[in-house]
This record gives sequence, structure tokens and C-alpha cells, in this order.
Amino acid sequence: MNIKGLTLAELQDYIESLDLPKYRAGQIFSWIHQKKACSWEEMTNLPKSIHRLFSEKEISLGCLSVLDRVEADDHTTKFLFELDDHQSVESVFLPDAHHHTICFSTQVGCGMGCVFCATGQNGLTRNLAAAEIIDQVLAISRMTGADIHNLVAMGQGEPLINYDEVMKAVKILNDPRGVGIGARHITISTCGIVPKIYQLAREPLQVNLAISLHSADDELRNQLVPINRKYPLRELFKACREYTADTGRRVTFEYALIKDVNDGRADLQKLIESINGLGKRSRALYHINLIPFNPIPGSSFERTVPQRVREFAALLTDAHIETTIRKERGADLAAACGQLQGKRAD
Ligand code: SF4
Repeated sequence: MNIKGLTLAELQDYIESLDLPKYRAGQIFSWIHQKKACSWEEMTNLPKSIHRLFSEKEISLGCLSVLDRVEADDHTTKFLFELDDHQSVESVFLPDAHHHTICFSTQVGCGMGCVFCATGQNGLTRNLAAAEIIDQVLAISRMTGADIHNLVAMGQGEPLINYDEVMKAVKILNDPRGVGIGARHITISTCGIVPKIYQLAREPLQVNLAISLHSADDELRNQLVPINRKYPLRELFKACREYTADTGRRVTFEYALIKDVNDGRADLQKLIESINGLGKRSRALYHINLIPFNPIPGSSFERTVPQRVREFAALLTDAHIETTIRKERGADLAAACGQLQGKRAD
């Protein structure tokens, strides 16, 4: 058992099942999630008899080990973590003067097959357990000494396919008796698993939703993001409309601009029409984040030139659609997900 994947209530039940006093659970939860302890011995306010009991019962603190770590000039750092079964996942630390962010993975590999994504090329190996998701955050916080303010589920994997473990991890990371990251500082990014968007809207913990859109045309999106064949744009936009109506929360559409693929006038026009089609009164609830595309090895896709990215943004803004261009971070390291892992496998 990996104790990191237990909520405080579950940990209390477990501690009581061992005939230990309930308050020990709060101490252990704090050692793991606030002080980022990686061994029972570090938990100095627990008696040695408890250390021994946990070791005998092989209760794991499951700390991930680092296989590789690459730091860019702007201190964005990508980590490749090894899991217990020798699989690996990537996570990225994005430091900022005030608000440090971690981009974490939710699966080993990914079954969604988005054609512009290195991770999507080799399929899904397995889902991550909540403990493995949580420890990406704890390990990076421990190694960098940084307090983490924002979390984004935008690493390897499709979070909504691993819904239960991802939401459990998010709830534990949100707990103020642990890491305590506010729900409004946690973003789940999906390529469009429509039924799970409805489920997410019903969660009491209201995290941010980002949709990897990349095209507002079904024919093109079928090619770029194959899950669109199962959940086409009409259904995806309907789910987004209901999500904003139910939660009052904003949806961000991620749009990676690929040269001569989705950055033309017709592409822009379709995007504007689609966002306007969501309803003018609620237009403030939708936001477009343009992403300078990161080319992947073996793909002919190229990035749109910066001038065109700025024009695209300006024309969306002229159409009264709130638009940002994602600031490029760690441009001097293999920035797109899956590339550090791919480099190691070569
Ligand atoms: S972009 Fe995201 S959902 Fe698509 S294949 Fe890559 S990891 Fe999976």
C-alpha cells in the first residue's frame, strides 16, 4: 500500500485499524504532504515502535526516483521520474517570481493518439495511481524547495480517462492540512472526453477546465485529435456550454498553431464562429490560449511563425474573444511532453 494516495479520512481509518490513536494520522499526513518526508525515520514525533510497525507491514511512502532532470536557462525544469514498475513519466516545474507551477502527468503514455504529440505516438501503457500523481508534486517541491501555487494536468496522458485517480489526487493536494493548493489554482486539461466533462461539472471541488481544441473544424480535428471522431465538436461545445452554465466557471481552449495546418484565415473564421456560437452573453466565459507549437521528432509539422501567431491573436481579440499567447517556457529544453522520455529511450 502506498499511503500517499490516502485521503486524511482514509488514513485515519487505517491508523485506527492498526489500534493506533487517530491523531497519529494527522501527524503522518502533515509529514508527508507538508514536510515532504520520504522515510518513516524523518517523522520525529512518531515513536520508533510505529516506524517499525510500518516497515514490517511494508507500508510504502512511495517516493519517486529521478531518472533525468533538465533545466532551461529560465529555470524551467523537466523531470523524468521512475515508477515502481520501472515505467517512467515526465513532469515540469515552471518557476515564477511569485507563483510556481507544476505540470504533472496522469498516465504512462496515452491512448488518444493526437498526431502532434510525442506521448501519443506509442499508445497507453497504464493509468497512474493517485499516489504517483501526488508524488510528482511532492518530489518537485522537495527537490526545488519551492512552495507550489498552481497545478496543471497537462503532462503525459489524458486526465479524464483516469478520472477517479486524478480527482482523488486533486482532492488530496487541495486539502489545507496537506499541500493545500486551491481548486482555482488547479487546471485539468482534456482533449475532449465529453461524458467526463459533465461529471467534472458536478464535482464539489471546482477546478479549472482546459480543452485541447486545435481546430474548430471536425474534418481537421478528426485528424489532429482522433477522439473527435467519437466526440465531435458539436457535442464538445455543448458539454462546454453546460459546464459553464452549471459552474459559472470559465473554459480555456488551447490552440497549438501549426504552420499551414490550422493557422489560415478559414481556420480563424471557424474558430470565431464556434466561440460566438457558444452564446454572446456568456462569451466572457471562454478564453483562447494560443500555443506556439513544439515540433516533435519524425513529424513534418512546423511551428507557425511568431508574426502569424500575433496576427491570429489580434484578430481573435478584434472579434471580442479573450485571447492570450502562452508564454514559452524552457524553450532550450525538449519542451513538448514525451520528448525527455523519448530521448532516453533512443
Ligand atoms: S496531446 Fe494529451 S491527450 Fe493527446 S496524445 Fe498527447 S498526452 Fe494524449
